[in-house]
Amino acid sequence: MASELEPEVQAIDRSLLECSAEEIAGKWLQATDLTREVYQHLAHFVPKIYCRGPNPFPQKEDMLAQHVLLGPMEWYLCGEDPAFGFAKLEQANKPSHLCGRVFKVGEPTYSCRDCAVDPTCVLCMECFLGSVHRDHRYRMTTSGGGGFCDCGDTEAWKEGPYCQKHELNTSEIEEEEDPLVHLSEDMIARTYNIFAIMFRYAVEILTWEKENELPGDLEMVEKSDTYYCMLFNDEVHTYEQVIYTLQKAVNCTQKEAIGFATTVDRDGRRSVRYGDFQYCEQAKSVIVRNTSRQTKPLKVQVMHSSIVAHQNFGLKLLSWLGSIIGYSDGLRRILCQVGLQEGPDGENSSLVDRLMLSDSKLWKGARSVYHQLFMSSLLMDLKYKKLFAIRFANNYERLQNDYVTDDHDREFSITDLSVQIFTVPSLARMLITEENLMTIIIKTFMDHLKHRDAQGRFQFERYTALQAFKFRRVQSLILDLKYVLISKPTEWSDELRRKFLEGFDAFLELLKCMQGMDPITRQVGQHIEMEPEWEAAFTLQMKLTHVISMMQDWCALDEKVLIEAYKKCLAVLMHCHSGFTDGEQPITLSICGHSVETIRYCVSQEKVSIHLPVSRLLAGLHVLLSKSEVAYKFPELLPLSELSPPMLIEHPLRCLVLCAQVHAGMWRRNGFSLVNQIYYYHNVKCRREMFDKDIVMLQTGVSMMDPNHFLMIMLSRFELYQIFSTPDYGKRFSSEITHKDIVQQNNTLIEEMLYLIIMLVGERFSPGVGQVNATDEIKREIIHQLSIRPMAHSELVKSLPEDENKETGMESVIEAVASFKKPGLTGRGMYELKSECAKEFNLYFYHFSRAEQSKAEEAQRKLKRQNREDTALPPPVLPPFCPLFASLVNILQSDVMLCIMGTILQWAVEHNGYAWSESMLQRVLHLIGMALQEEKQHLENVMEEHVVTFTFTQKISKPGEAPNNSPSILAMLETLQNAPYLEVHKDMIRWILKTFNAIKKIRESSSTSPVAETEGTIMEESSRDKDKAERKRKAEIARLRREKIMAQMSEMQRHFIDENKELFQQTLELDASTSAVFDNSPVVSDMTLTALGPAQTWVPEQRQFVTCILCQEEQEVKVESRAMVLAAFVQRSTVLSKNRSKFIHDPDKYDPLFMHPDLSCGTHTGSCGHVMHAHCWQRYFDSVQAKEQRRQQRLRLHTSYDVENGEFLCPLCECLSNTVIPLLLPPRNIFNRLNFSDQPNLTQWIRTISLQIKALQVLRKEESTPTTASSKKSETMGELQLPEGFRPDFHPKNPYSESIKEMLTTFGTATYKVGLKVHPNEEDPRVPIMCWSSCAYTIQSIERILSDEDKPLFGPLPCRLDDCLRSLTRFAAAHWTVASLSVVQGHFCKLFASLVPNKNHEDLPCILDIDVFHLLVGLVLAFPALQCQDFSGISLGTGDLHIFHLVTVAHIVQILLTSCTEEDGMDQENSTGEEELAVLALYKTLRQYTGSALKEINSGWHLWRSVKAGIMPFLKCSALFFHYLNGVPSPSELEATGTSHFEHLCHYLSLPNNLICLFQENSEMVNSLIESWCHNSEVKRYLEGQRDAISYPREPNKLIDLPEDYSSLINQASNFSCPKSGGDKSRAPTLCLVCGTLLCSQSYCCQTELEGEDVGACTAHTYSCGSGVGIFLRVRECQVLFLAGKTKGCFYAPPYLDDYGETDQGLRRGNPLHLCKERFKKIQKLWQQHSITEEIGHAQEANQTFVGIDWQHL
Ligand SMILES: [Zn+2]
Ligand SMILES: [Zn+2]
Ligand SMILES: [Zn+2]
Ligand SMILES: [Zn+2]
Ligand SMILES: [Zn+2]
Ligand SMILES: [Zn+2]
Ligand SMILES: [Zn+2]
Repeated sequence: MASELEPEVQAIDRSLLECSAEEIAGKWLQATDLTREVYQHLAHFVPKIYCRGPNPFPQKEDMLAQHVLLGPMEWYLCGEDPAFGFAKLEQANKPSHLCGRVFKVGEPTYSCRDCAVDPTCVLCMECFLGSVHRDHRYRMTTSGGGGFCDCGDTEAWKEGPYCQKHELNTSEIEEEEDPLVHLSEDMIARTYNIFAIMFRYAVEILTWEKENELPGDLEMVEKSDTYYCMLFNDEVHTYEQVIYTLQKAVNCTQKEAIGFATTVDRDGRRSVRYGDFQYCEQAKSVIVRNTSRQTKPLKVQVMHSSIVAHQNFGLKLLSWLGSIIGYSDGLRRILCQVGLQEGPDGENSSLVDRLMLSDSKLWKGARSVYHQLFMSSLLMDLKYKKLFAIRFANNYERLQNDYVTDDHDREFSITDLSVQIFTVPSLARMLITEENLMTIIIKTFMDHLKHRDAQGRFQFERYTALQAFKFRRVQSLILDLKYVLISKPTEWSDELRRKFLEGFDAFLELLKCMQGMDPITRQVGQHIEMEPEWEAAFTLQMKLTHVISMMQDWCALDEKVLIEAYKKCLAVLMHCHSGFTDGEQPITLSICGHSVETIRYCVSQEKVSIHLPVSRLLAGLHVLLSKSEVAYKFPELLPLSELSPPMLIEHPLRCLVLCAQVHAGMWRRNGFSLVNQIYYYHNVKCRREMFDKDIVMLQTGVSMMDPNHFLMIMLSRFELYQIFSTPDYGKRFSSEITHKDIVQQNNTLIEEMLYLIIMLVGERFSPGVGQVNATDEIKREIIHQLSIRPMAHSELVKSLPEDENKETGMESVIEAVASFKKPGLTGRGMYELKSECAKEFNLYFYHFSRAEQSKAEEAQRKLKRQNREDTALPPPVLPPFCPLFASLVNILQSDVMLCIMGTILQWAVEHNGYAWSESMLQRVLHLIGMALQEEKQHLENVMEEHVVTFTFTQKISKPGEAPNNSPSILAMLETLQNAPYLEVHKDMIRWILKTFNAIKKIRESSSTSPVAETEGTIMEESSRDKDKAERKRKAEIARLRREKIMAQMSEMQRHFIDENKELFQQTLELDASTSAVFDNSPVVSDMTLTALGPAQTWVPEQRQFVTCILCQEEQEVKVESRAMVLAAFVQRSTVLSKNRSKFIHDPDKYDPLFMHPDLSCGTHTGSCGHVMHAHCWQRYFDSVQAKEQRRQQRLRLHTSYDVENGEFLCPLCECLSNTVIPLLLPPRNIFNRLNFSDQPNLTQWIRTISLQIKALQVLRKEESTPTTASSKKSETMGELQLPEGFRPDFHPKNPYSESIKEMLTTFGTATYKVGLKVHPNEEDPRVPIMCWSSCAYTIQSIERILSDEDKPLFGPLPCRLDDCLRSLTRFAAAHWTVASLSVVQGHFCKLFASLVPNKNHEDLPCILDIDVFHLLVGLVLAFPALQCQDFSGISLGTGDLHIFHLVTVAHIVQILLTSCTEEDGMDQENSTGEEELAVLALYKTLRQYTGSALKEINSGWHLWRSVKAGIMPFLKCSALFFHYLNGVPSPSELEATGTSHFEHLCHYLSLPNNLICLFQENSEMVNSLIESWCHNSEVKRYLEGQRDAISYPREPNKLIDLPEDYSSLINQASNFSCPKSGGDKSRAPTLCLVCGTLLCSQSYCCQTELEGEDVGACTAHTYSCGSGVGIFLRVRECQVLFLAGKTKGCFYAPPYLDDYGETDQGLRRGNPLHLCKERFKKIQKLWQQHSITEEIGHAQEANQTFVGIDWQHL
């Protein structure tokens, strides 16, 4: 060992220890050239302290550095002992009221949604808990590291900027007080000196780029030949590549390589070799060679050790400075001053500038150290923050350029500080006005996107990998722009206006480069060859969305700015489209006597682009003109006359036509890229600044032009002009049957066009377009989302656009429109639309996708039917338009519109084939409805003397003019009302006619306008239809009643299925409704029911018939028939364990005969209860196996089950299984052949059994010692004197059929294999033990659950559980028949010897170390192997009873020894009861045997109480066991909850109520046994306090307690560091819910080897904590993780919910989370029921992605 350490642990240089900080400081105080003096000191000592060997020694280095290097500086600075000096400084300091705590990775941060100025303003947990915001709406996130707490920053919070702690410091704050006043002149001078020298030194050495040479003033006289081969981090190479390369290059182990790689990743560099130059150079060349093949090579430098030493000290120095300035704000200010002071080289020469500008050249570790220093100094000093901000803005372009070419993530770049600077409103404003920051950011951004097409637009096509990489990085500049704009100005100065508009100009330049980018042309003939690049353009659009909105928000705040911006935007748009009418002859369109000129342009033939940001920005500004009323106040300042409506609408219209054509299938050959673009165009992330604004632009255009002209241009762009301009075009269809596709295409286009008109008139919920406010807009969005179906909070949030503060405004209105339904045990809370809001539903809401539209339609119609209303979905009443848009409504009553409506209605009336569509008609009806609503509104709101110009009703009553002479629209509607093929729309037509009449009535009453002559027809129509309507109404009522009944039926059905699903899936849903099916209770009085012994109640055997789920054949369960089996799952379990550190080390040698009472490793058997023929199952399993092998070869896929390990899914319920249990009759009845009336008592019985055992032991010895002399054998036999009636040579015949015997072996072997984790071996003597043990353990675990839940012992059990326990018990009892008789006898002897001493077995565990229930089960089930050779007449029942009594006696002794405590105050001295006196006597006897080591207790009452409490679990388990073994029905008292049932249990188990009687009846024998137990040395040791023992009753095992507030878990986890990599923060801290251990999951550092494979910390932990099964909480993800074995796992919903009843897996939403106790209980129950593995199986079957996850690495 010593030799290995030798080069590392060198004796510390004496000269170092002899240094005196005080002396050195004294020397410095005298020095004339302090810099030279200090540098000499550093040059001499630094290389002696740092970098003395291949590996760093941080503690030693830190200690020496403090002593020799930093100590003198502290002395110098304080002028006295720093221990006093710093304390004085701290006292005199007026601490800042800023918190400034720098966040660690994973630390929780909080932002108040009500008070934070923007979402980047956050609080640390401590400040948050002490602030007013904890009662506000807040959001919680985990920090990615970096950033600091904004507590105390008045600019960050609208309210409550201070927490309680930081508020204290604010009382005496005088603004702008200079902190230096608290320092002495001397102190200031000294501090200044030393800071200046040290800061300069650190900057100089960290930015030093030479590898072999130090700065002149640090160079040493003699230079050793010691070098480091330094490996640097990059983001190009993977962990694996680095590890692999290192192993090759420096010849290290994999473990060392992992260590190097981890440090390189964390710190940014690590030396991987130390030695002479040659040696290091060699490693470097190998690394470079190995990594340069595909990518650029890893960065490696061979550096002289002294350089590395100085650099290490440089870093130390920066952290030291950071901590020193913590003592005093004055020191902080001096440091800031030093840092920002310009050096001799002028511009950019300050230390701060130098560091920033070399940022991208520094390694990660150095960067984070100086970033932290900046944060704790420059950003914490209000004066210098401003100066620093200016430096930062000045260098902005260079820093960004460096960042873009660098490959480290942004969090490691100085540019990331922008969020700290730009989000401060005052700084942002100053930087805009003084440094022109907006323009700088935009220009810098533009400079990086140089790739343009001929028109100067961005071109992302054919980007190289490098360009794409740069594009990704440069996007962060948009984020900076967002920060700058995030807080809007309240006051405008002229300078701010000027600079903002300058920035706006730059922004328009940017948008101009996007206007029309990525143009597309329709592909005809063949499919496109390559999908064009489209994502980059959309990424840009998406990132800019908020910025565009914020630009508009800024403009809206100042009228002057708005006017200027509008002008600028218009100018740019005109410039973009200046040539749009060039070169083409205009064409003339005319319909109904209107005509208009337009250009010749077809979307389907020419280039079209989806990107029109300039048009859309103008649309946004136009709305603002209306909203702010600038348009009315200063029309003369606006260039309204320059607006050319046809030019404005042209491009947005093309874009919308493109969407329509895509929908009509005309662009199919253009591939998916187009489909995706159309999708995003409408998507919630983009639509606000894309689709929505196109609609606004069209609305703008239409409101400024003749609607007839607009409609004609629109028809032309939709390529439908021909159809509607040619009167007879409708007749085309019969002749055009051959062009069915074309007709359908046109139909779709007509539908789309009508939809567009509906939107143009109906969408007036943007403030400025219609007379609404922002709340109305959100309300309407929510109403329409909830019209589709009830939704959870998060779904709603996702469907609404978020603003730059990540707010949707939903909370403010949700109460008004929806009611909240709380979640149950699963699922989430839901919002349901209030019924009174249904009337605001608009079927043609413009944000519906097609699927949503049809779902909403269906849902709303259904609702109406349920309310017994008609099913018409008429258009809602709309708010009025703002004046600027008011003329839009005229489109509805324009001639061309009426012509279009008339034409379509005509088609519907003629009803010829597929020439029209129902949706077309539906839209026309909707439009008519809108027009009627509009007219009605106009009439109702009309002012006195005003003429209503909206006269739609009149127009539709007029028949067509000659020569056409078509009927009026109204007439056609009346006709259609009775058309049989329009059943669905009848209600709507009826509604239209009704509304029409209503409007007429209003008109008549006001009689301001002439009434048309249509009344007669309407009246006539209504009387004719009167009785028809009555009949229909009745039919309708009948139909509704039928529907209601059907609904009730299906509801009941659903309930039934749900309940039964529970039955299948829930192991132990102890619900009364799911009571056991097998109830074979005969008519016997309960009081006589006895489960065992000679007095056992005789139960007539019931015949049992079962049906095979595979072949559906019914069969009786019989001894001699073919075996029937239950699918079963055997697993190891630690659920009941009281000692999780214990596990089986060497399973091949492990002896499971005695279970320790800590139950540390049990074997649990479960079953879904589904019965199959053994041979049917065999066939099924073989086929599964074969299929699996084929599949694995083909697909290499995993399944949720492991066939090679015998796993399969139950063919009926898909429950995970790994073996089968045979179904058997009660096995005791088969062997119970002799029944003499005279049975031995306990004493006699023990004697007899002891004799028999002795005989057997002699015989076994005989057999095992090979003797040739047969005479000798018979001799001993003779001596032996076999007990009476005992015939050891007798071998009973196995009564079972071959098939059953085979299954007994199969299940026995499976239990053995799984329970011990060994290879199957049916001959192994431990097989029967494992069978008994599994039976005992399973019963114990079920008893535990029943007790925990306060359920009665024999209450209704689900039948799958009942079946499982019955089969398991009977199987375990029958298994000995297939095992070796002598082996089972051997086990019996040994078990028996643990209670009745036998000199052949002296090394058995002591009575304290045996679980008595396991012992009981083993003894009872092994006993037949002995009893079958006994012909003396002792019955099996007698044996059972005596065994049971004997074990009970032992257990009582166990309890008295371990579990009796006398409680003070509750003393009941007068123990008068029989039991109490008896137990007191017994206790005294025990004390006597233990030599009074047992504590003295005088209260029989207490003792008896302890015994009763302690023995209950055992009695309950025994009752279950004998119940299933012997088939004796349970007494009804035990089927009900309530009192303890102690007496009933005793009676059922054939025990005296006074258990102590057992001791008295056979006192001699029992006393001798007790004496032998008490004399065991372990008992002595226990009583002397040298060891522990389990006490009774055992405490129930629960999952750990979880805190109510999730953030305290996050906080706990953020303090957790990886246990293996020295203080590093763990990336995926994961909490074991079973034992509470925190683990470092999913990371290399904590991988370990398990059975020859690398596994993650969680998997490794499951093996020690849960024998392969684990339940974890992934704290960062807020996700529960279930693991089973190495290959199985799933994620499960966490027990934490937000206020909306939703979980937040991944912590993406950040709503506060609280523990849901019920859900946590459910997880606990899954665990207690051993259902985790099953749950994983179901989850994996349901979700295939779970199958692909590498669970073992978690
Ligand atoms: Zn804080
Ligand atoms: Zn605070
Ligand atoms: Zn608040
Ligand atoms: Zn079958
Ligand atoms: Zn099943
Ligand atoms: Zn654990
Ligand atoms: Zn770790």
